[in-house]
Amino acid sequence: MAENKSILVVGGGISGISVAVEAAEVGYKVHLVERNAYLGGRVAQLNKYFPKLCPPYCGLEINFRRIRPNPDIDVLTMSEVVKVQGGPGNFTVTVKTNPRYVNEACTSCGKCAEACPAERANGFNYGMDKTKAAYLPHTLAFPMRYVIDRSACASGCKACEEACKYGAVVLDQQPATTELKVGSIVYATGWKPYDMGNLKLLGEGKMKNVISNVMMERLASPGGPTGGKILRPSDGKEAKVVGFVQCAGSRDENHLSHCSSICCMASIKQAFYLREQYADSKAEIFYIDLRTPGRYEKFLNRAQADENIKFTKGKVAAVSEDPSTGDITVELEDVLAGTKRKATVEMLVLATGMEPEMKGSAGAASVSQDGFALADLQKPGIYSTGVAKSPVDVMTSIQDAAGTALKAMQSIVRS
Ligand SMILES: Cc1cc2nc3c(=O)[nH]c(=O)nc-3n(C[C@H](O)[C@H](O)[C@H](O)COP(=O)(O)OP(=O)(O)OC[C@H]3O[C@@H](n4cnc5c(N)ncnc54)[C@H](O)[C@@H]3O)c2cc1C
Ligand code: SF4
Ligand code: SF4
Repeated sequence: MAENKSILVVGGGISGISVAVEAAEVGYKVHLVERNAYLGGRVAQLNKYFPKLCPPYCGLEINFRRIRPNPDIDVLTMSEVVKVQGGPGNFTVTVKTNPRYVNEACTSCGKCAEACPAERANGFNYGMDKTKAAYLPHTLAFPMRYVIDRSACASGCKACEEACKYGAVVLDQQPATTELKVGSIVYATGWKPYDMGNLKLLGEGKMKNVISNVMMERLASPGGPTGGKILRPSDGKEAKVVGFVQCAGSRDENHLSHCSSICCMASIKQAFYLREQYADSKAEIFYIDLRTPGRYEKFLNRAQADENIKFTKGKVAAVSEDPSTGDITVELEDVLAGTKRKATVEMLVLATGMEPEMKGSAGAASVSQDGFALADLQKPGIYSTGVAKSPVDVMTSIQDAAGTALKAMQSIVRS
């Protein structure tokens, strides 16, 4: 067995976190490298999990409780791998950590943000609102520590440094480079939402009341830009008649050729958000095929039992906006009725798919044409898991992560 019982995990979403806790709890040292200022990945941005519709923070917090007291998990946020050398049992990895400008003394009192005169678009809420340049990534962030976006700072300003009575603000912090010796590597780099700007027929992201499914998660979330009220972006009106366009850019050779597998479930879940919020609301889901396999069939049946959630089989061919009302009209062929028709809604949600993030990560396994990781025999000791490997839900990501943790440990034992 190699002397080095350390594993590098790249990506601190639910998949990477799961690999880290599984391996660390059997005595392996884990370096968990995350690009964002917080752990949790895209799951941290969801309002509720299907099928139980519980808040995702239940699941994440259970894992954070396993990470906090474990000295074998070294969490490196705001960090990326820049170089990987060596082989199984003996990799040398160079990690670059970008400055957070706030150190461990931060109590997250918020005084820096109160004093801060500058604002930036809030990436956590997909740009639908703003934060100060000194900000907490979100209310349940792990680690619970402020960050400063220096690119948004007012010139010459030091107000946050003066406001922080704990000396936690360090405006001259510099990037740091760390060299790690590890025995195996797991890439859990996950996904990003497919860019609506590429969808010409669906408005190219230019119509205010045409939003993506990830934005809908934030709109419905109590920590979102509207405090959880589903209000349409153009005028803040309650959005009670909402359409959902399935496969928006998925299963299409011009965009993502794969099926993201969770978008049908996500839209059904979001139709429930709407129905729970407004008794007089109506949702219409425009689909090509509905994919709700296994235990998820019951979730679909529940939605089909609600007469105010309508399912229409047909591909949306065009979308237009009425400038006087902000309403959106979709044109489609209703396949089962055999007619062409139009439907007008107050807000339209595009069920954009999951685009893998792994391409370009230093040292990562090879990727398929779609960008998902391939089992790479040329790179022993390097594995991938979760959505980096295929578009899956949270439960499958966690199961896959446990198996991947085992492979990463076995690789060390064998080398
Ligand atoms: C609209 C929508 C709703 C959904 N709702 C549900 C639901 O209700 N229930 C459910 O089970 N699933 C749901 N999903 C699917 C769920 O989001 C995924 O299963 C989950 O995010 C997979 O986790 P992951 O850790 O593999 O990837 P991610 O969540 O993407 O995490 C990857 C992490 O890696 C980091 N990273 C990426 N590249 C690098 C790099 N080079 N260096 C360092 N760090 C990096 C990222 O910052 C991120 O933190 C939904 C998906 C969508 C699109
Ligand atoms: S950096 Fe200082 S002022 Fe800002 S939240 Fe942390 S402790 Fe409070
Ligand atoms: S230095 Fe930047 S973050 Fe700090 S108060 Fe000024 S503008 Fe805000």
